[in-house]
Amino acid sequence: MRDWRARGREKPPGLAESRARAVVSMALHRGTIKRGSCERCGAAKVEAHHDDYTKPRQVRWLCRACHKHIHF
Ligand SMILES: [Zn+2]
Ligand SMILES: [Zn+2]
Repeated sequence: MRDWRARGREKPPGLAESRARAVVSMALHRGTIKRGSCERCGAAKVEAHHDDYTKPRQVRWLCRACHKHIHF
């Protein structure tokens, strides 16, 4: 495992995100998190979005289009 902290830089993008995603999929599997509908347009097919990857259980549900939109 690479220790990025030792370099005193920011986390590499993607690592925290994939970790947060893993937490969500596990929680969905266990039923401790419920998949909602898109908070912007109400679409049923949603992806989990994290405002803060250090809080992996705090997710917002967004469809692909709206998800793209908030990531610009
Ligand atoms: Zn949407
Ligand atoms: Zn997102």
